[in-house]
Amino acid sequence: MFRVHCWGVRGSLPVSGPQFQRYGGNTFCIEVQCGNHRLLFDAGSGLLPASRTLLGEGLKNYELFFTHCHYDHIVGLPFFLPIYVPDANIRVWSGHLENGMTTRAMMDDFIRPPWFPIRLEMCRANLDFRDFNAGDTIEVFPGLVMKTGKLNHPGNATGYRIEWQGRVFTLITDTEHTPGAPLDPNVLELIQGADLVLYDCMYVDDEMEKHRGFGHSTWQHAIRLAQAADVSRMGFVHHSPLRTDEELDDIARQAAELMDGAFPVADGTTFDLLRQSY
Ligand SMILES: [Zn+2]
Ligand SMILES: [Zn+2]
Repeated sequence: MFRVHCWGVRGSLPVSGPQFQRYGGNTFCIEVQCGNHRLLFDAGSGLLPASRTLLGEGLKNYELFFTHCHYDHIVGLPFFLPIYVPDANIRVWSGHLENGMTTRAMMDDFIRPPWFPIRLEMCRANLDFRDFNAGDTIEVFPGLVMKTGKLNHPGNATGYRIEWQGRVFTLITDTEHTPGAPLDPNVLELIQGADLVLYDCMYVDDEMEKHRGFGHSTWQHAIRLAQAADVSRMGFVHHSPLRTDEELDDIARQAAELMDGAFPVADGTTFDLLRQSY
């Protein structure tokens, strides 16, 4: 089993309404299943439906990785239901923090009054915090090795490359490219030869100039990267909260003309990396 499920792929802010029905409005939360192991990436608003489902399945052991801690990637954290379950074991990992901040301090600062009525210390699960440096290779479990890399984002962010049973999945969100500059070597290393990449496509190329320094990339750049690094399937994620279903359909049509297997991803999509289906 090597499965990737998208519980939230919207960037910046959750959205709802008829114009966002098909691609969905929850912010970042991606679940990766490697055999019996379940890994969650980011705690956006998609973490609530994810945790309801996983708790419903009776899951006891959780691995939660942060790409970084901007609001769209942590807003669901107080609604991560397993943190309130006494026999749940949760390891929380982050590699983007600077100036001595720990993963524990980051969570502690967010889950407390006046932002939320309870404190982290009132959570009843067994919490185990793991700090690493973006660029480290992590053995999450025996046989499950994950490479990490630093992304170009304000305050830093971490990209993840998971190799399991000969297949590769890479998650790259959020990152900014410089138009016309050489491709980011950190990103190329993480995505090289991947079977599936999910990549930050907040903007389109025409919007990059006015959003310089915002820390995001485009679907056209995702295709450039995919073609340079022999990527089989390139999924566009971190959709702008302004991007409607209709606009994403239009992007899908344009992308299909440039590359087979390049497409915008919707909430609820499951990818099976061993069967190459979705
Ligand atoms: Zn983001
Ligand atoms: Zn961000």
